[in-house]
Amino acid sequence: MKSSDLFSRAKTLMPGGVSSPVRAIKPYPFYVERAAGSHLTTVDGADLVDCCLGYGPLILGHAHPGVREAIGRQLDKGWLYGTPSPLEIDLAELITGDHPGIDMIRFVSSGSEATMAAIRLARGYTGKQDIIKVEGGFHGAHDAVLVKAGSGATTLGVPDSAGVLADLVAHTRQVPYNDPEALETLLAGNDDVAAFILEPIMGNIGPVLPDDDYLADVREITAAYDVLLILDEVITGYRVGIGGAEVLYGVKPDIATFGKIIGGGLPIGAFGGRSDIMELVAPAGPVYQAGTFSGNPVSLAAGSAALRYLHEHPEIYRRLDDATRAIGEVAADAGRGSFVRIGSAFKHFFRDPAPRNYREVKECDTEAFGRFWKAMLDAGVFLPPSQFETNFLSAAHTERDIEQIADAYGSCLFA
Ligand SMILES: *Cc1c(COP(=O)(O)O)cnc(C)c1O
Repeated sequence: MKSSDLFSRAKTLMPGGVSSPVRAIKPYPFYVERAAGSHLTTVDGADLVDCCLGYGPLILGHAHPGVREAIGRQLDKGWLYGTPSPLEIDLAELITGDHPGIDMIRFVSSGSEATMAAIRLARGYTGKQDIIKVEGGFHGAHDAVLVKAGSGATTLGVPDSAGVLADLVAHTRQVPYNDPEALETLLAGNDDVAAFILEPIMGNIGPVLPDDDYLADVREITAAYDVLLILDEVITGYRVGIGGAEVLYGVKPDIATFGKIIGGGLPIGAFGGRSDIMELVAPAGPVYQAGTFSGNPVSLAAGSAALRYLHEHPEIYRRLDDATRAIGEVAADAGRGSFVRIGSAFKHFFRDPAPRNYREVKECDTEAFGRFWKAMLDAGVFLPPSQFETNFLSAAHTERDIEQIADAYGSCLFA
Protein backbone atom coordinates (compact mmCIF):
# COMPACT_ATOMS: atom_id res chain seq x y z
CA MET A 1 0.00 0.00 0.00
CA LYS A 2 1.24 3.49 -0.85
CA SER A 3 2.00 6.23 1.67
CA SER A 4 -0.99 8.33 0.58
CA ASP A 5 -3.37 5.42 1.19
CA LEU A 6 -1.77 4.50 4.49
CA PHE A 7 -2.09 8.10 5.67
CA SER A 8 -5.78 8.20 4.74
CA ARG A 9 -6.33 5.21 7.02
CA ALA A 10 -4.05 6.60 9.74
CA LYS A 11 -6.01 9.87 9.89
CA THR A 12 -9.14 8.01 10.98
CA LEU A 13 -7.24 6.14 13.69
CA MET A 14 -4.76 8.63 15.14
CA PRO A 15 -5.07 12.39 15.63
CA GLY A 16 -3.49 14.05 12.62
CA GLY A 17 -2.62 10.56 11.42
CA VAL A 18 0.63 10.45 13.39
CA SER A 19 2.14 9.49 16.73
CA SER A 20 4.09 12.77 17.12
CA PRO A 21 3.22 16.14 15.51
CA VAL A 22 6.42 16.89 13.57
CA ARG A 23 5.86 13.75 11.48
CA ALA A 24 2.71 15.14 9.87
CA ILE A 25 4.42 16.16 6.63
CA LYS A 26 2.02 17.75 4.11
CA PRO A 27 0.15 16.56 2.13
CA TYR A 28 1.07 13.20 3.65
CA PRO A 29 4.20 11.75 5.25
CA PHE A 30 6.11 8.97 3.53
CA TYR A 31 5.93 5.62 5.28
CA VAL A 32 9.16 3.74 5.81
CA GLU A 33 9.51 0.14 4.77
CA ARG A 34 13.01 -0.34 6.16
CA ALA A 35 16.15 1.49 7.13
CA ALA A 36 19.81 0.52 7.04
CA GLY A 37 22.94 2.58 7.52
CA SER A 38 22.34 6.09 6.18
CA HIS A 39 19.35 5.16 4.02
CA LEU A 40 15.58 4.91 4.34
CA THR A 41 13.48 2.92 1.90
CA THR A 42 9.89 4.09 1.66
CA VAL A 43 6.84 1.95 0.94
CA ASP A 44 6.59 3.94 -2.31
CA GLY A 45 9.96 2.58 -3.36
CA ALA A 46 12.04 5.75 -2.81
CA ASP A 47 15.55 5.43 -1.47
CA LEU A 48 16.53 8.41 0.68
CA VAL A 49 19.71 9.57 2.38
CA ASP A 50 18.54 10.23 5.93
CA CYS A 51 19.64 13.45 7.65
CA CYS A 52 16.87 13.26 10.25
CA LEU A 53 18.06 10.05 11.90
CA GLY A 54 15.09 9.72 14.20
CA TYR A 55 15.62 13.38 15.26
CA GLY A 56 19.06 12.68 16.63
CA PRO A 57 19.46 9.31 18.36
CA LEU A 58 20.99 7.41 15.44
CA ILE A 59 24.55 8.77 15.43
CA LEU A 60 25.71 5.34 14.24
CA GLY A 61 23.04 5.15 11.55
CA HIS A 62 20.16 2.72 11.14
CA ALA A 63 20.44 -0.91 12.22
CA HIS A 64 24.09 -0.57 13.22
CA PRO A 65 25.51 -4.12 13.39
CA GLY A 66 27.13 -3.73 16.82
CA VAL A 67 24.00 -2.25 18.39
CA ARG A 68 21.86 -4.84 16.68
CA GLU A 69 23.99 -7.63 18.05
CA ALA A 70 23.73 -6.21 21.58
CA ILE A 71 19.95 -6.00 21.24
CA GLY A 72 19.80 -9.57 19.95
CA ARG A 73 21.96 -10.89 22.79
CA GLN A 74 19.72 -9.13 25.30
CA LEU A 75 16.51 -10.38 23.70
CA ASP A 76 17.72 -13.93 24.29
CA LYS A 77 17.87 -13.10 28.00
CA GLY A 78 14.45 -11.43 28.25
CA TRP A 79 13.43 -7.79 27.97
CA LEU A 80 11.83 -6.73 31.22
CA TYR A 81 12.72 -7.80 34.73
CA GLY A 82 11.13 -5.40 37.20
CA THR A 83 14.31 -5.76 39.20
CA PRO A 84 17.80 -4.31 38.74
CA SER A 85 20.12 -5.68 36.06
CA PRO A 86 23.91 -5.38 35.73
CA LEU A 87 23.29 -3.43 32.50
CA GLU A 88 22.26 -0.28 34.34
CA ILE A 89 25.49 -0.21 36.32
CA ASP A 90 27.42 -0.54 33.08
CA LEU A 91 25.68 2.37 31.34
CA ALA A 92 25.69 4.49 34.52
CA GLU A 93 29.46 4.01 34.84
CA LEU A 94 29.96 4.93 31.20
CA ILE A 95 27.93 8.13 31.40
CA THR A 96 29.20 9.33 34.78
CA GLY A 97 32.74 8.51 33.62
CA ASP A 98 32.33 10.73 30.57
CA HIS A 99 30.80 13.68 32.45
CA PRO A 100 32.80 15.24 35.29
CA GLY A 101 29.66 17.02 36.57
CA ILE A 102 27.63 13.85 36.94
CA ASP A 103 28.18 11.66 39.98
CA MET A 104 24.89 9.74 39.93
CA ILE A 105 22.19 9.06 37.40
CA ARG A 106 18.60 7.78 37.17
CA PHE A 107 17.40 6.08 34.00
CA VAL A 108 13.91 6.84 32.68
CA SER A 109 12.15 6.12 29.39
CA SER A 110 12.27 9.42 27.49
CA GLY A 111 13.90 12.82 27.41
CA SER A 112 10.61 14.43 28.44
CA GLU A 113 10.47 12.29 31.53
CA ALA A 114 14.06 13.22 32.32
CA THR A 115 13.49 16.99 32.22
CA MET A 116 10.22 16.66 34.15
CA ALA A 117 12.02 14.81 36.93
CA ALA A 118 15.03 17.16 36.82
CA ILE A 119 12.76 20.16 37.39
CA ARG A 120 10.98 18.43 40.27
CA LEU A 121 14.35 17.53 41.76
CA ALA A 122 15.59 21.12 41.48
CA ARG A 123 12.48 22.33 43.29
CA GLY A 124 12.86 19.63 45.93
CA TYR A 125 16.50 20.47 46.50
CA THR A 126 16.19 24.25 46.64
CA GLY A 127 12.73 24.55 48.17
CA LYS A 128 12.03 27.24 45.56
CA GLN A 129 9.15 27.30 43.08
CA ASP A 130 10.04 29.05 39.82
CA ILE A 131 12.10 27.82 36.92
CA ILE A 132 13.62 29.77 34.06
CA LYS A 133 13.90 28.40 30.55
CA VAL A 134 15.15 29.84 27.30
CA GLU A 135 12.63 31.21 24.79
CA GLY A 136 12.24 28.58 22.08
CA GLY A 137 14.07 25.97 24.15
CA PHE A 138 12.49 22.53 23.94
CA HIS A 139 12.58 20.10 26.82
CA GLY A 140 9.83 17.67 25.89
CA ALA A 141 6.06 17.83 26.01
CA HIS A 142 5.16 18.21 29.69
CA ASP A 143 3.29 21.09 31.29
CA ALA A 144 6.06 23.09 32.96
CA VAL A 145 8.03 23.56 29.75
CA LEU A 146 5.19 23.99 27.22
CA VAL A 147 5.39 27.72 27.46
CA LYS A 148 5.06 30.26 24.72
CA ALA A 149 7.88 32.73 24.33
CA GLY A 150 6.97 35.92 26.14
CA SER A 151 7.47 39.39 24.77
CA GLY A 152 10.21 40.35 27.19
CA ALA A 153 12.78 38.89 29.47
CA THR A 154 10.67 39.05 32.58
CA THR A 155 7.24 38.16 31.19
CA LEU A 156 5.21 35.44 32.79
CA GLY A 157 4.89 32.35 30.70
CA VAL A 158 1.62 31.66 28.95
CA PRO A 159 0.63 28.09 28.06
CA ASP A 160 1.72 26.92 24.62
CA SER A 161 -0.94 24.22 24.54
CA ALA A 162 -4.59 23.88 25.41
CA GLY A 163 -5.00 21.98 28.64
CA VAL A 164 -1.97 23.44 30.40
CA LEU A 165 -2.87 25.42 33.52
CA ALA A 166 -1.91 29.09 33.43
CA ASP A 167 -1.33 28.87 37.18
CA LEU A 168 1.28 26.23 36.58
CA VAL A 169 3.23 27.93 33.81
CA ALA A 170 3.16 31.15 35.83
CA HIS A 171 6.10 29.47 37.59
CA THR A 172 8.02 29.18 34.32
CA ARG A 173 9.90 32.34 33.34
CA GLN A 174 11.78 32.79 30.11
CA VAL A 175 14.87 34.60 28.91
CA PRO A 176 16.32 34.94 25.41
CA TYR A 177 19.25 32.71 24.51
CA ASN A 178 22.69 34.32 24.38
CA ASP A 179 21.58 37.06 26.76
CA PRO A 180 23.27 36.67 30.15
CA GLU A 181 22.14 40.16 31.21
CA ALA A 182 18.47 39.16 30.87
CA LEU A 183 19.12 36.16 33.10
CA GLU A 184 20.91 38.25 35.69
CA THR A 185 18.17 40.92 35.68
CA LEU A 186 15.49 38.29 36.16
CA LEU A 187 17.35 36.63 39.02
CA ALA A 188 18.09 39.94 40.70
CA GLY A 189 14.34 40.55 40.95
CA ASN A 190 13.18 37.05 41.87
CA ASP A 191 14.52 35.05 44.80
CA ASP A 192 12.17 32.11 44.25
CA VAL A 193 13.97 30.50 41.29
CA ALA A 194 14.94 26.84 41.68
CA ALA A 195 16.67 26.28 38.36
CA PHE A 196 17.63 27.57 34.95
CA ILE A 197 17.14 24.87 32.32
CA LEU A 198 18.62 25.21 28.85
CA GLU A 199 19.81 23.33 25.83
CA PRO A 200 23.50 24.31 25.78
CA ILE A 201 23.20 24.44 21.99
CA MET A 202 19.64 25.15 20.88
CA GLY A 203 18.85 22.00 18.95
CA ASN A 204 15.11 22.21 18.46
CA ILE A 205 15.20 25.50 16.57
CA GLY A 206 18.68 25.13 15.32
CA PRO A 207 21.42 24.52 15.80
CA VAL A 208 21.69 27.97 17.34
CA LEU A 209 25.15 28.19 18.87
CA PRO A 210 26.19 29.80 22.14
CA ASP A 211 28.24 33.00 21.98
CA ASP A 212 31.81 32.52 23.18
CA ASP A 213 31.28 33.21 26.89
CA TYR A 214 27.56 32.60 27.16
CA LEU A 215 27.62 29.23 28.92
CA ALA A 216 30.43 30.30 31.26
CA ASP A 217 28.43 33.43 32.12
CA VAL A 218 25.31 31.35 32.71
CA ARG A 219 27.25 29.08 35.06
CA GLU A 220 28.64 32.03 36.99
CA ILE A 221 25.31 33.84 37.27
CA THR A 222 23.30 30.79 38.37
CA ALA A 223 25.93 29.95 40.99
CA ALA A 224 25.95 33.53 42.28
CA TYR A 225 22.17 33.44 42.79
CA ASP A 226 22.05 29.91 44.21
CA VAL A 227 20.05 28.66 41.28
CA LEU A 228 20.65 25.18 39.92
CA LEU A 229 21.85 24.91 36.32
CA ILE A 230 20.12 22.12 34.39
CA LEU A 231 21.85 21.36 31.10
CA ASP A 232 19.47 19.57 28.78
CA GLU A 233 21.89 17.38 26.85
CA VAL A 234 19.20 15.20 25.28
CA ILE A 235 20.47 16.20 21.82
CA THR A 236 24.03 17.34 22.60
CA GLY A 237 24.96 14.30 24.73
CA TYR A 238 27.43 12.23 22.68
CA ARG A 239 26.42 14.28 19.61
CA VAL A 240 28.96 17.10 19.95
CA GLY A 241 31.52 14.67 21.33
CA ILE A 242 32.02 12.35 24.26
CA GLY A 243 31.07 14.34 27.33
CA GLY A 244 28.57 16.43 25.37
CA ALA A 245 28.36 20.19 25.76
CA GLU A 246 29.56 19.92 29.35
CA VAL A 247 33.01 18.83 28.20
CA LEU A 248 33.04 20.75 24.89
CA TYR A 249 32.39 24.09 26.60
CA GLY A 250 33.77 23.22 30.03
CA VAL A 251 30.55 24.09 31.85
CA LYS A 252 29.59 21.92 34.79
CA PRO A 253 25.86 21.52 35.37
CA ASP A 254 24.20 20.80 38.72
CA ILE A 255 21.80 18.47 36.93
CA ALA A 256 21.95 17.23 33.34
CA THR A 257 19.36 15.40 31.28
CA PHE A 258 19.96 12.83 28.55
CA GLY A 259 18.05 10.79 26.00
CA LYS A 260 18.31 10.09 22.28
CA ILE A 261 21.88 8.81 21.60
CA ILE A 262 22.36 7.15 25.01
CA GLY A 263 19.73 4.53 24.09
CA GLY A 264 21.37 3.54 20.81
CA GLY A 265 18.07 4.28 19.04
CA LEU A 266 15.75 2.64 21.57
CA PRO A 267 13.55 4.60 23.99
CA ILE A 268 15.48 6.03 26.94
CA GLY A 269 16.07 9.07 29.07
CA ALA A 270 18.21 9.85 32.08
CA PHE A 271 18.92 12.61 34.53
CA GLY A 272 22.00 12.92 36.66
CA GLY A 273 24.06 15.36 38.63
CA ARG A 274 25.95 16.10 41.80
CA SER A 275 25.46 13.35 44.35
CA ASP A 276 24.19 15.67 47.11
CA ILE A 277 21.36 16.62 44.73
CA MET A 278 20.73 13.14 43.29
CA GLU A 279 20.58 11.61 46.78
CA LEU A 280 17.23 13.39 47.16
CA VAL A 281 15.64 11.14 44.53
CA ALA A 282 13.41 8.32 45.84
CA PRO A 283 14.03 5.87 47.39
CA ALA A 284 17.22 7.56 48.68
CA GLY A 285 15.33 10.80 49.31
CA PRO A 286 11.95 12.56 49.26
CA VAL A 287 11.69 13.56 45.55
CA TYR A 288 9.47 10.92 44.01
CA GLN A 289 10.26 9.43 40.62
CA ALA A 290 9.40 5.98 39.24
CA GLY A 291 8.69 4.06 36.05
CA THR A 292 7.75 0.54 34.92
CA PHE A 293 10.11 0.68 31.95
CA SER A 294 12.89 2.70 33.61
CA GLY A 295 16.25 1.07 33.02
CA ASN A 296 14.78 -1.18 30.35
CA PRO A 297 17.36 -3.91 29.67
CA VAL A 298 17.12 -3.75 25.87
CA SER A 299 17.52 0.05 25.76
CA LEU A 300 20.43 -0.16 28.18
CA ALA A 301 22.14 -2.87 26.14
CA ALA A 302 21.69 -0.88 22.93
CA GLY A 303 22.89 2.31 24.63
CA SER A 304 25.99 0.71 26.10
CA ALA A 305 26.89 -0.81 22.75
CA ALA A 306 26.49 2.54 20.98
CA LEU A 307 28.50 4.51 23.55
CA ARG A 308 31.25 1.88 23.63
CA TYR A 309 31.45 2.04 19.84
CA LEU A 310 31.82 5.82 19.99
CA HIS A 311 34.58 5.44 22.58
CA GLU A 312 36.38 2.98 20.35
CA HIS A 313 35.95 5.15 17.24
CA PRO A 314 36.52 8.76 18.29
CA GLU A 315 37.53 9.54 14.69
CA ILE A 316 33.80 9.50 13.84
CA TYR A 317 33.44 12.95 15.37
CA ARG A 318 36.28 14.43 13.32
CA ARG A 319 35.09 12.84 10.09
CA LEU A 320 31.54 14.13 10.52
CA ASP A 321 32.82 17.58 11.43
CA ASP A 322 34.75 17.61 8.15
CA ALA A 323 31.64 16.44 6.34
CA THR A 324 29.38 19.24 7.59
CA ARG A 325 32.16 21.73 6.81
CA ALA A 326 32.20 20.46 3.23
CA ILE A 327 28.41 20.77 2.94
CA GLY A 328 28.63 24.25 4.46
CA GLU A 329 31.13 25.38 1.85
CA VAL A 330 28.69 24.47 -0.89
CA ALA A 331 25.83 26.18 0.96
CA ALA A 332 27.92 29.34 1.42
CA ASP A 333 28.49 29.52 -2.33
CA ALA A 334 24.74 29.61 -2.87
CA GLY A 335 24.85 33.10 -1.41
CA ARG A 336 21.64 33.29 0.54
CA GLY A 337 20.68 32.45 4.07
CA SER A 338 23.21 31.20 6.58
CA PHE A 339 24.67 27.77 7.18
CA VAL A 340 25.27 26.81 10.80
CA ARG A 341 26.99 23.66 11.94
CA ILE A 342 28.61 22.07 14.95
CA GLY A 343 30.18 18.66 14.52
CA SER A 344 27.63 16.40 12.88
CA ALA A 345 24.70 18.80 13.41
CA PHE A 346 23.89 21.38 10.75
CA LYS A 347 21.24 23.58 9.26
CA HIS A 348 20.69 26.15 6.57
CA PHE A 349 18.68 29.08 7.89
CA PHE A 350 16.79 31.22 5.44
CA ARG A 351 18.02 34.30 7.25
CA ASP A 352 21.31 36.11 7.09
CA PRO A 353 23.16 36.54 9.41
CA ALA A 354 22.70 33.32 11.37
CA PRO A 355 20.14 33.64 14.16
CA ARG A 356 21.37 33.99 17.75
CA ASN A 357 18.06 33.36 19.54
CA TYR A 358 14.44 32.32 19.06
CA ARG A 359 13.19 35.70 17.91
CA GLU A 360 15.77 35.79 15.17
CA VAL A 361 15.04 32.20 14.16
CA LYS A 362 11.40 33.16 13.73
CA GLU A 363 12.46 35.73 11.11
CA CYS A 364 13.52 32.93 8.77
CA ASP A 365 11.72 32.65 5.45
CA THR A 366 9.83 29.42 6.13
CA GLU A 367 8.24 29.40 2.67
CA ALA A 368 11.67 29.40 1.06
CA PHE A 369 12.62 26.62 3.46
CA GLY A 370 9.55 24.61 2.43
CA ARG A 371 10.50 24.83 -1.24
CA PHE A 372 14.11 23.92 -0.43
CA TRP A 373 13.03 20.99 1.72
CA LYS A 374 10.84 19.56 -1.05
CA ALA A 375 13.60 19.98 -3.61
CA MET A 376 16.03 18.17 -1.30
CA LEU A 377 13.56 15.30 -0.92
CA ASP A 378 13.22 15.12 -4.71
CA ALA A 379 17.02 14.96 -4.85
CA GLY A 380 16.90 11.94 -2.54
CA VAL A 381 17.84 13.64 0.75
CA PHE A 382 15.49 13.56 3.72
CA LEU A 383 15.94 16.57 6.01
CA PRO A 384 13.71 17.09 9.05
CA PRO A 385 10.61 18.77 7.58
CA SER A 386 10.92 22.05 9.48
CA GLN A 387 13.09 25.16 9.36
CA PHE A 388 13.20 24.70 13.11
CA GLU A 389 14.77 21.26 13.43
CA THR A 390 18.44 20.30 13.30
CA ASN A 391 19.86 18.09 10.53
CA PHE A 392 22.22 15.31 11.50
CA LEU A 393 24.83 13.06 9.96
CA SER A 394 25.75 9.60 11.21
CA ALA A 395 28.84 7.42 11.14
CA ALA A 396 27.03 5.38 8.48
CA HIS A 397 27.02 8.24 5.97
CA THR A 398 29.57 7.38 3.30
CA GLU A 399 31.70 9.81 1.31
CA ARG A 400 29.24 9.26 -1.52
CA ASP A 401 26.27 10.15 0.70
CA ILE A 402 28.03 13.31 1.80
CA GLU A 403 28.76 14.28 -1.79
CA GLN A 404 25.12 13.65 -2.67
CA ILE A 405 23.98 15.86 0.21
CA ALA A 406 26.45 18.62 -0.74
CA ASP A 407 25.45 18.47 -4.42
CA ALA A 408 21.77 18.58 -3.48
CA TYR A 409 22.40 21.57 -1.20
CA GLY A 410 24.12 23.31 -4.07
CA SER A 411 21.42 22.72 -6.65
CA CYS A 412 18.45 23.20 -4.28
CA LEU A 413 19.76 26.43 -2.74
CA PHE A 414 20.54 27.89 -6.16
CA ALA A 415 17.09 26.89 -7.45
C1 LIG B 1 14.05 15.35 22.11
C2 LIG B 1 14.29 16.28 23.26
C3 LIG B 1 13.63 16.14 24.49
C4 LIG B 1 12.52 15.16 24.68
O1 LIG B 1 12.95 13.84 24.57
P1 LIG B 1 11.86 12.70 24.24
O2 LIG B 1 12.64 11.43 24.33
O3 LIG B 1 11.32 13.02 22.89
O4 LIG B 1 10.80 12.82 25.29
C5 LIG B 1 14.02 16.94 25.54
N1 LIG B 1 14.98 17.87 25.39
C6 LIG B 1 15.62 18.05 24.22
C7 LIG B 1 16.70 19.06 24.13
C8 LIG B 1 15.28 17.27 23.11
O5 LIG B 1 15.89 17.49 21.94
